[in-house]
Amino acid sequence: MGYPILPALKQAGRRVGSLDRTLIMLVVLLTSVFPVELFPNTPSPPKGIDGQYSARQGQVVLVKVPLDEEATDVKGSFLDRTIPFFRELRPGEPVGYLGLVGIDMQDAPGTYELAVTIKNGEQAIKRLSYHVLVTKEKFAVEHLKLPKDKVDLDDKTLARWKLEQDQVRKALADNSALRLWHSGFVEPVSGKRTGIFGSVRIMNGQPRNPHNGEDIGAPLGTEVAATNDGVVRLTVDHVFSGRGVFVDHGLGFYTMYFHLSEILVKDGDLVKAGQIIGKVGSTGRATGPHLHWGVKLNGARVNPYALLDLPFKDGPAPGLSGSDFHFSPESHRIKQ
Ligand SMILES: [Zn+2]
Repeated sequence: MGYPILPALKQAGRRVGSLDRTLIMLVVLLTSVFPVELFPNTPSPPKGIDGQYSARQGQVVLVKVPLDEEATDVKGSFLDRTIPFFRELRPGEPVGYLGLVGIDMQDAPGTYELAVTIKNGEQAIKRLSYHVLVTKEKFAVEHLKLPKDKVDLDDKTLARWKLEQDQVRKALADNSALRLWHSGFVEPVSGKRTGIFGSVRIMNGQPRNPHNGEDIGAPLGTEVAATNDGVVRLTVDHVFSGRGVFVDHGLGFYTMYFHLSEILVKDGDLVKAGQIIGKVGSTGRATGPHLHWGVKLNGARVNPYALLDLPFKDGPAPGLSGSDFHFSPESHRIKQ
């Protein structure tokens, strides 16, 4: 009696096995595509008060403004930050403008207005108002106990750090008016993510600045790729961040790569997505080789992995043609 059942069982076993594998593959695939969404205990964000936009702290909202009339300038204002919109031209779809609204990791939860002004020449032809609901992200809290002299900076180090902060502020004060980035964001290093973006560090009982990037652990010398097209705005060797590269992707969007052992680009270089710009190291204050990857979006410190999750379709960026790349790095810059 057992005989006829056995092949059926085997068959069923095989089926379950392959179903399991499919499920595992699906979960692996989904977690790599939506790394944050599948985090346990993270509820899906509620919608804005009128069903408009919502996002957690440190995330990025893609806002679409449909528009069929001529416009020369579309700008949003959100929490005192200016959001430049760019034209979306996709065959077969209505013309519109897109903007990336970064939610800073420390923006207080609440509903805020995104006010969009559409101009044609000097004339404002339309004003639109959206609501963006900012919800709380659960950031990790790290308690660290270190010898006092490792935590408290001496005057010389503090002075150096302040000068370096000024240098960065100046270099990133102007935004390229051209969008250089496109939808194909590249993870600069595929290593072990520590998931500590936004984590609050309490050193010897004192709260410090939250961690404003993501750390990716990788062996010393691992190649670091630019996440998208852009121009190298600044290369540094700083007390905390070590050897670092700041890439300007245009329209107020910057990426940063810190603690490098080697920098392979120089200020003003144009880089392409995936181009190797340096190598993983542990320069500056780093406990071991890793890449600190940071993103600033119109002044908001956002989770770099939020870029990889943006709901873009495959293919080149809307409205971005080859001719957009013929520009000189120093031209087309606007004051924020
Ligand atoms: Zn870091």
